[in-house]
Amino acid sequence: MEDWFVTEQLDGDTFAVSEPRHWEQPHCYLLRGKERALLLDAGLGVADLRAAVVRLTDLPLSVALTHAHWDHIGGLRQFPDFAVHGAEESWLSSAFPLPDEQVRQSLTREPCAFPPGFDPKNYRPFRGKPARLLRDGERLDLGGRALIVLHTPGHSPGHCCFYEAERGYLFSGDLLYCGRLDAFYPTTDPWAFRASLHRVRALEVGRIFPGHRTLKVPLDLPRRAAEAFDRLAEGGMRPGLYDFENFSVRI
Ligand SMILES: [Zn+2]
Ligand SMILES: [Zn+2]
Repeated sequence: MEDWFVTEQLDGDTFAVSEPRHWEQPHCYLLRGKERALLLDAGLGVADLRAAVVRLTDLPLSVALTHAHWDHIGGLRQFPDFAVHGAEESWLSSAFPLPDEQVRQSLTREPCAFPPGFDPKNYRPFRGKPARLLRDGERLDLGGRALIVLHTPGHSPGHCCFYEAERGYLFSGDLLYCGRLDAFYPTTDPWAFRASLHRVRALEVGRIFPGHRTLKVPLDLPRRAAEAFDRLAEGGMRPGLYDFENFSVRI
């Protein structure tokens, strides 16, 4: 359907491409440089993401993933030039950590008017081989603008944030958003999550672009989330659901 994706222009050459009709409300981001364009994440994979993206750029395009959870990799079959952190490369081939049936249950957990022609019964997480792997500290140069890759494990072992120092942008993936921060799967690590939050809170950030939900993320969220994890650490990271202002944490 034409309007499955909602595109919001964030500045002259940065866009959010979002799927607000789905309960996950995931976001991809398209960044245009002078020579190349970069798409951060690839959404649910229930509609034609490439068509939504090529309306915004005709530059050579590659994809970098914050992480390889099913709701961030769905559109990759349309983008063979993609990169993921090495800690999750195997998830894209043999070792995806959830059975397909459980992914389908997550996809359909809340009623959703999927695009015509998409049948959730046939949904499978994307599988494929990345063109290359992301490394911590690596600079992704788009010509006239560049992102630094920050390996920020915790939500998942290969989770990366992307930091654009010149504009003060932090693309935070599932490390930070207004909603429930998930650190309770077998492949999560709440201690690493805490360390990653402390890493990003030390950055100079003017705008935070999250993996899910509202694009209006308060700028003190990194500090408050890091402090919340400090308190949970004092209690030994006991499993539970903990509520804070604008976010919650599930361990
Ligand atoms: Zn995730
Ligand atoms: Zn996610």
